[in-house]
Amino acid sequence: MKSIENYLKINLLRREFIRWLMKMMSTSVVFTLWGGGIFRKSKANAAQSTQQTAASAAEGQVTLENVNESRTLLKNGLIVDGTGNKAFKGSLLINHHKIEKVITEDVSFDGNTIDCTGRVIAPGIIDMHSHMDSVLPAGDRHDLTTPFTRQGVTTFVGGNCGYGIAGFKKGSQNLTAESSNRDFYKTVNKRAKGLYELQWDTFGGYFDYLEKNGITHNLATLVGNGTTRASLQGFDPTPMTGSRMQEQMYLLEEALEQGARGVSFGLQYEPDVFVTLDELNKVAAMVKQKDKIITVHMKAYSALSGTYPLEFYGVPHNLQAIEEILNLGRETGARIQLSHLIFVGERTWKSYEKAFELIDQAIQDGVDVKFDTYAYHCGVSIINVVLPEWFLARVPEVFNSRWALLKLRAELTLITNLLGFGYEDIQITKANHPDLEQYNGMFLKDIARKRNMGEFENFIDFVQKSNGIAAVLNHRYSNQEQVKAMIRHPASLFQTDATVRLEGVQNPAAFGNFPRILQYARDYNLISLEEAVHKMSGASADRFGIQDRGILVGNKAADIMVFDWHKVKDNNTDIKTSETPSGIDYVFINGTLALDQGKINTKAKPGVVI
Ligand SMILES: [Zn+2]
Repeated sequence: MKSIENYLKINLLRREFIRWLMKMMSTSVVFTLWGGGIFRKSKANAAQSTQQTAASAAEGQVTLENVNESRTLLKNGLIVDGTGNKAFKGSLLINHHKIEKVITEDVSFDGNTIDCTGRVIAPGIIDMHSHMDSVLPAGDRHDLTTPFTRQGVTTFVGGNCGYGIAGFKKGSQNLTAESSNRDFYKTVNKRAKGLYELQWDTFGGYFDYLEKNGITHNLATLVGNGTTRASLQGFDPTPMTGSRMQEQMYLLEEALEQGARGVSFGLQYEPDVFVTLDELNKVAAMVKQKDKIITVHMKAYSALSGTYPLEFYGVPHNLQAIEEILNLGRETGARIQLSHLIFVGERTWKSYEKAFELIDQAIQDGVDVKFDTYAYHCGVSIINVVLPEWFLARVPEVFNSRWALLKLRAELTLITNLLGFGYEDIQITKANHPDLEQYNGMFLKDIARKRNMGEFENFIDFVQKSNGIAAVLNHRYSNQEQVKAMIRHPASLFQTDATVRLEGVQNPAAFGNFPRILQYARDYNLISLEEAVHKMSGASADRFGIQDRGILVGNKAADIMVFDWHKVKDNNTDIKTSETPSGIDYVFINGTLALDQGKINTKAKPGVVI
């Protein structure tokens, strides 16, 4: 029996011979003289081998020797390699935590083999807009990560929307609820959900902690501008200048040097809602210099938003917000990711084509910009997200100001009427206050009726009692038309923006988003299988400079999913939002089998920090 090393050598000789032969004769002569057969096959193989690192034999069967137990052969699947190139039939050999090679011939192997006939072998999914960076330190909570494994996710890109879990002012991890910077304590504790104690302030410390404790998935992460800012000045709306800004820049830069993949902003949340254009520019220029990325949860996602002054005949606020960030790209040259593009409220829906025009124009102008999307028309947020900046800047005393509340009521009434988005679209998933937990799962409009309260008073009560962090699922983020158009757009990438909730109603994206995107791509013929996989893997790896995974070639990390392209399907409905998807059979994370035909390997923590 030939060893694999011998096989590679012989194969190389064969390819040399074929190349020589092809050089000697024109293809047509070969076909005329030899009648096709073997030469037609070898030509196809030679062409393929220029695209793949996998060596190809001219004919016959390859025998691989089972030299060690760490080899697994995924046999006879349809290989969709994550580059966007055309799928081809083949097998893939895993050795330890890496892909050893992709094989295009018939292969015989007496070691551990998984028959992938009729299945797609693809790279593991990179969930490129995630908040799992704050969940993974919880270590053994497989229940919080399993739903992602079942979708085929192998890597998270965390730290989005301005929320980081490291990169703080030194010593911030020791703050308590009584400290003078309660805002920072609140922000970070909300993210840790009581699952672990914060034992670090830098990314170096955070990554060491994860490596020591082990993680279920791979993690790349961003430093959240907002959390870093909060560690320096809480939710103080004062613009950052002088030595304060220098300190902010120092912490962000230190985070990037210690391995953060970029900087994220959450311009609709405290404290990033107070970030000035000058602050944005300084950070973007530094990120550009370091050749990293900025991801931006923009200032507005609806035609009318409290985060901009109300004017009725101006440019829709969501388009202003997009243009503002595209201009940031034009001015600084920074690589930009527009986070979770949505079009909140019926009146905003029609602006999506114009939004695409702005993005396409920026790309034409040389801006390195993409956006990300999911396959649902609802999404998670916190109840504060609908509050205007002027109101947030005066919390908590603003709750006692009759005038401020009257002004807010008038603005919100106007916005909800003009926008086609209101209390009937905001579903409380976790109220975060003992008096209000009984309403988890209900919509604000129905809750107000049940409590016999005015809709505005009910809303403000939730805001105040939960300290603004009642978790919500906002509906009417988009309709089918926009979801499909975004999946189809060449600049879109795919993400969940989701975590599994400890209690309350689940976000369906945590359970079925990627299967749903594949299903939509297939059923509505939106994009090809190859393109869908590419956007979930290779393209996302590229975006964040992840070099050792995202495509299936020899020597890359063995992050792999095996699924049935004809059966893959999300099983969530409007009411059931935590269903297991169909059609995903196997998931490997760094060569470890994490999902085996429905069974989750709960003993393994095969993830690494990347
Ligand atoms: Zn966000």
